[in-house]
Amino acid sequence: MKGTMMHYPLTLMHLLERAGSLYGSVEIVSRMPDKSMHRYTYADFYRRARSLAKALQKAGLKRGDRVGTLMWNHYVHLEAYFGIPAAGGVLHTLNLRLHPDEIAYIANHAGDRFLIVDDVLLPLLQKFRDRLKVERIIVVSLTGQPVPEGMEEYESFIAEPAEDFVYPDLDEEEAAGMCYTSGTTGRPKGVVYSHRSLVLHSFASAMADTLGISRHDVVLPVVPMFHVNAWGLPFTCTMVGAKQVFPGPHLDPVSLLELFKGEQVTFTAGVPTIWLGILQVLEKNPGQWDLNPKLRMVVGGAAAPESLIRAFDRHNLRVVHAWGMTETAPLGTVSLLKPHMESLSVDEQYAYRAKQGLPAPFVEVRIVNEQGVAPHDGKTMGELQVRGPWIAADYYNRPDSRDSFTEDGWFRTGDVATIDPEGFVKITDRTKDLIKSGGEWISSVDLENALMGHPAVAEAAVIAVPHPKWQERPLAVVVLKEGARATEEELIQHLAPRFAKWWLPDGVVFVKEIPRTSAGKFLKAKLREQFKDWVKEREGLRPD
Ligand code: AMP
Repeated sequence: MKGTMMHYPLTLMHLLERAGSLYGSVEIVSRMPDKSMHRYTYADFYRRARSLAKALQKAGLKRGDRVGTLMWNHYVHLEAYFGIPAAGGVLHTLNLRLHPDEIAYIANHAGDRFLIVDDVLLPLLQKFRDRLKVERIIVVSLTGQPVPEGMEEYESFIAEPAEDFVYPDLDEEEAAGMCYTSGTTGRPKGVVYSHRSLVLHSFASAMADTLGISRHDVVLPVVPMFHVNAWGLPFTCTMVGAKQVFPGPHLDPVSLLELFKGEQVTFTAGVPTIWLGILQVLEKNPGQWDLNPKLRMVVGGAAAPESLIRAFDRHNLRVVHAWGMTETAPLGTVSLLKPHMESLSVDEQYAYRAKQGLPAPFVEVRIVNEQGVAPHDGKTMGELQVRGPWIAADYYNRPDSRDSFTEDGWFRTGDVATIDPEGFVKITDRTKDLIKSGGEWISSVDLENALMGHPAVAEAAVIAVPHPKWQERPLAVVVLKEGARATEEELIQHLAPRFAKWWLPDGVVFVKEIPRTSAGKFLKAKLREQFKDWVKEREGLRPD
């Protein structure tokens, strides 16, 4: 027997219409390149997003056509988030931190027909313009400089009112967005988000037991809108009518703290590097920043060290640790305590909060290793595999990547994890970053987190270095805090009580900075290459 309920397509148009009719007076604030503030309301956003949709259709956009965006976080990018899908197009956010060759490759591989670009990013665009196959380029004039010949200006492009605009009759499975993974090896791979997946992702993100975003929030995504849709926040906020605050290109700690304070932000999200920087500024002069006591910060994209969570608690700011990927849209797991855990000891509570947490509803997780599906014992490591309605089932036009998906319908994350009896997932490594010493696995993430708990350490990456007897051994690469001192011996001593002896790094090298990916994560492949002869060199042998 079938249900008697309506079949109602889950599309982003509903979110846009809802915002236009219910949240008209709520503000959307953006910081411009000259640091001035742009303010308007959801009513303005609604009107302009629809004008963009109409203009794109008039310019010849067909259903499923890709529109690239090369933009910082601001209100026009939000208009693109909704205007492009509302026209039946596919929003393709381009990562402006990538090498120009790579951006050109990604835009061409995706088949972008149109491109919307910030005028402040035109010098970047010029580096690969000649290789781009896009037909029309629309420039957002943030600084008022003249638009180069052969390109159009955004405001004139969307000038026509759109009261008469009619949405295409879209199926919820049609593509709405596209994002390429910032992988460290091989060519980037594209993930295509359907309307349905983005709508369900918004529902799941808004839940109290996940990110808990409501119309009472003031949300500032530090995470770029070109990185997995700013973790879906622009969609979720528009669905619930939260005030949105965009930092533009100003991502340094002081600029962000000014915005947190000025707009009384209650929710923000970004990678650990951002929070480490903010923490250092906060600690210098804690009384200076009159932040909203409700401010919570979601940390993801890389592991949040326990020491970071503890440090922010000392400033009454709540860190919420979450895990996700481009392929998971990205909400996968969120680490919020279960009610009974609130009576555990402080240390036990922190241990849970430093894990990546419980899967969101409809995200299924399992750990698989050579023995098969691993038990939830919090010890057995294996590859984390996931499935669910907002998890990729394939990559765009990449038949060579089928091995990222299992035959029984799971996505292989490439992350190594454990799951404990409470269901909390803990990421111990990337498959590629695992250290296998004498046949046993060592978690580089655990060692890094412990090292970052040492008062002199600003950042630490632990990598595998080849070893003649053990195949691989851990080596710690450490950046000390400004003016701080620590010796190799001292840091190893700091780790000794916490780990089995064979887990302890064979050495510590001190560096000025750790190389990073475009998303701000440690680029361990580069470190491994740099230190591949470290064991031989230490033993006084000549490298090959
Ligand atoms: P991306 O697709 O660029 O967002 O990268 C996804 C990868 O980032 C994951 O596969 C993890 O390796 C890593 N990652 C994301 N969130 C976390 C986290 N909370 N802890 C550890 N690693 C994370």
